Amino acid sequence: MGADDAPRYGVLGWPVGHSRSPAMMQAAGLTRYQRLPVAPDAFADTVRALYGAGFRGANVTIPHKEAALALATTASAAAREIGAANTLTFAADGEIAAENTDAPGLMGALADRPMRSALVLGAGGSARAAIWALSRAGADVSIWNRTPERAAGLDGRVVREAVAADILVNCTSVGLDRSSSPFKDLPLSADGLREYKTVVDLVYRAGGTALLREAVKRGIVTVDGLEILVCQGALSFTLWTGLAAPLDLMRASARDADSQL
Ligand code: NAP
Repeated sequence: MGADDAPRYGVLGWPVGHSRSPAMMQAAGLTRYQRLPVAPDAFADTVRALYGAGFRGANVTIPHKEAALALATTASAAAREIGAANTLTFAADGEIAAENTDAPGLMGALADRPMRSALVLGAGGSARAAIWALSRAGADVSIWNRTPERAAGLDGRVVREAVAADILVNCTSVGLDRSSSPFKDLPLSADGLREYKTVVDLVYRAGGTALLREAVKRGIVTVDGLEILVCQGALSFTLWTGLAAPLDLMRASARDADSQL
């Protein structure tokens, strides 16, 4: 197969310019993996046209994960139960299969960390995947969200302030830019991080996040958003190719893209 015949893949988002997925997936061998910036009103038509343009799969990021599940012709139980898909696979008969690799990606990144209890911050798409995965792993999950009503009905206890737990997972977008701060916008203090054995931040940004910097200073084990990105991407790669993912290569390229920002 020549380079121009290789199957195409991409990441659908709006915006999607910040995504490290192209660097990571190209390093893994999906040489024709690209950013696919698609506005919400063009999402369904664009996705249905992708197979004809040579695409065999796509990752999905903000704000399309729920729309991706809605337009899929088949979906895994995990994607249905979480209510969102981050991985689509296209077939010749028009089939669009939806999967959610965010949930197992988080569990892969957590490896064998203790997780009898977890405090999840957030109630958006990524929080729903984290809550689903942690609950299924047997953790007693507490959920804090700025808008508490949004957390109602999720598989955990809604709390109005931070509670101690084995794992703290930030699934809000706080810390993504200078306009928000974890110690101002979230119910946390830097010293209060000692209440957790592991601190996880789904947010990633050049130079790391203040939340994880303060956790590291206190000797707490941390898992950053890039590791979670790599773990979910590896699962998508295997789903599409049937091959084991080259995790070290993917990790190195995602982190290299980080240093270039
Ligand atoms: P989302 O569905 O838009 O949810 C955003 C969440 O952030 C909501 O819970 C929202 O609370 C909260 N929030 C936003 N601004 C806040 C503020 N100033 N103070 C307190 N809470 C605030 O987004 P998402 O898909 O869950 O993604 C969340 C973050 O995780 C993003 O930064 C995304 O880049 C990152 N992420 C990373 C990965 C990875 O692989 N590393 C994967 C997925 C997502 P309200 O409900 O009150 O608005």
